[in-house]
Amino acid sequence: PLVLGIETSCDETGVGVVRGRTLLADAVASSVDEHARYGGVVPEVASRAHLEAMVPTIQRALRQAGVSARDLDAVAVTAGPGLAGALLVGVSAAKAYAYALGKPLYGVNHLASHICVDQLEHGPLPEPTMALLVSGGHSSLLLAPDITSDVRPLGATIDDAAGEAFDKVARVLGLGFPGGPVIDRYAREGDPAAIAFPRGLTGGRDPLYDFSFSGLKTAVARWVEARRRDGQEVPVADVAASFQEAVVDVLTRKALRACKDNGVDHLMIGGGVAANSRLRALALERCEGAGIRLRVPRPGLCTDNGAMVASLGSEMVARGRAASTLDLPADSSLPVTEVSVPGHSHPDPH
Ligand code: ATP
Ligand code: MG
Ligand code: FE
Repeated sequence: PLVLGIETSCDETGVGVVRGRTLLADAVASSVDEHARYGGVVPEVASRAHLEAMVPTIQRALRQAGVSARDLDAVAVTAGPGLAGALLVGVSAAKAYAYALGKPLYGVNHLASHICVDQLEHGPLPEPTMALLVSGGHSSLLLAPDITSDVRPLGATIDDAAGEAFDKVARVLGLGFPGGPVIDRYAREGDPAAIAFPRGLTGGRDPLYDFSFSGLKTAVARWVEARRRDGQEVPVADVAASFQEAVVDVLTRKALRACKDNGVDHLMIGGGVAANSRLRALALERCEGAGIRLRVPRPGLCTDNGAMVASLGSEMVARGRAASTLDLPADSSLPVTEVSVPGHSHPDPH
């Protein structure tokens, strides 16, 4: 099926076009520069930017794909989780296009899309899929027997998300927003063993698949403040590298443990933090050592984009899943277990 995907859950207006599992277009307009001076995403600013970028980005994606809107078989959109006002812009646009074109609408989960997108690069996902989802708002280990209908959490962060920790540590170091890419860059020049930062929830009695990054973030802040108080220079590259190592060490350790415990021979990593170069390298090293096949999309498909939404929509169509009704709501706190949203007036399947 030829499917258009619309993503507006945060500060990226993303529109993708896929045919089956083939990526035809991936257009992204980001309002990140407008948020940078506030040190974080400002919801009202994001909503307004989505409004302005929505139709031009859809047109750009269709042009890139070389298709006309009339050729589409379905329109998919992120129904949640994310910023309520931002989500509403995408959901409204998707409804308008679906209604005007007379094509089915699929409201899908942003987090399942972060996983499904890997199909565009590495072919059909194994069933079940073991996924480490690491992003700005989430950090979870998920086992998905069917990415269109059945996603089960094995564990998740009990405080900050991994991406959130990158953003907060970058702020402490005065590196600006968003923090992930800039810490990644600085860390390349630093020594990951320079400072022994804590590895959260890795004790013998700790939950196996849960994460905690808030203690790490505080430890980094304390370490940096102590240096400054003593009038000493802060070795930014070493702090960045040591912090990053603490995060990716725990992420990969727990993900591999989950694979082994569940008899799964592969690991998928998705979400914005999956763009991290050290996470990708360490995951590859440890997976190879354990005989586990690693699947990570290229960095541009890890951060928010429309292609990921189109990929999940396409899979829903291919598997004959029910479309959403046109009164589809945006759900800012949509749980990861709800892969799609049927809409208010959807006939009850039970
Ligand atoms: P969610 O998917 O949970 O709703 P989100 O959509 O806002 O959150 P994503 O776009 O998936 O988040 O990811 C953004 C996060 O990824 C930010 O916290 C950012 O700092 C982080 N990130 C991006 N690139 C990198 C990188 N190279 N290294 C580490 N973190 C990164
Ligand atoms: Mg973003
Ligand atoms: Fe995301």
